[in-house]
Amino acid sequence: SEAVQLTGRVVPLEDGVVLVITEDESATQRVEAVRRDFVANVSHELKTPVGAIGILAEAVEAASDDPEAVSRFASRLQVESARLAELVGQIIELSRLQAADPSLTLDVVDIEDVIDEALGRSREAAHKRSVVLTRTQAQPAQVLGDQWQLTDAVANLVQNAISYSGHQARVSVSVSSVTTGDDEFVDIKVSDNGIGIAPDEQERIFERFYRVDYGRSRESGGTGLGLAIVRHIASSHGGTISVWSRPRQGSTFTLRLPSHTKEGNS
Ligand code: ADP
Repeated sequence: SEAVQLTGRVVPLEDGVVLVITEDESATQRVEAVRRDFVANVSHELKTPVGAIGILAEAVEAASDDPEAVSRFASRLQVESARLAELVGQIIELSRLQAADPSLTLDVVDIEDVIDEALGRSREAAHKRSVVLTRTQAQPAQVLGDQWQLTDAVANLVQNAISYSGHQARVSVSVSSVTTGDDEFVDIKVSDNGIGIAPDEQERIFERFYRVDYGRSRESGGTGLGLAIVRHIASSHGGTISVWSRPRQGSTFTLRLPSHTKEGNS
């Protein structure tokens, strides 16, 4: 017979009868390894901006009789502290999502509202880079889910599309309904004509902290957590996130969510 490694708890019920509660140790170990890995990555990622802030603060002090240098260091301090704030915010968000939060609120959410809000958040960034933002929606679409999380997912995709495209790029968001067998889905597509992603990187970009060409990505000011957050939100809503991309031509990310069909309407 096969040997299965089980650990468990023995709970005596009555004379001579015990209840053995077992758990699959390898699964627990896997979860633990993932957690350890995450903590190690977080520590590593936090050290960079924290170190930079320390050095810049010293530089400000040392340059106290050179106002121009002080203001140069001060503005870099602001950049690094903004980056730290973003990183901490995303780490907290991802930890919350990973805590298998049973409090996911399920409301009927209009996708139109999600897109409006997500585009609203990105308008300023788009304007700065002269990126043209467009949207199309064929018909009203609704899903069951958490409006804040869904908005955050779409906003992350739009933000990336803007960040990883050149000046005067075009970013478009479109919504369509898809039927496969008995199931109906809403596809939210975010397309850009930016730098694109090489085929062997396309799987990896959804991993936490993974960034294509670390140096260049760091210039763009991201954290490497955005797509991991999007993937979490997609799966907790019973959906998927996928990417189509060609280097130097652009990328299209598709967030597919189960469609909410009104009672008596399906
Ligand atoms: P980041 O904070 O670095 O943007 P993400 O998890 O959102 O982190 O994305 C991971 C990496 O995937 C990015 O660093 C970038 O290299 C790549 N990427 C994401 N979106 C796009 C896009 N629209 N076009 C090209 N590359 C992208």
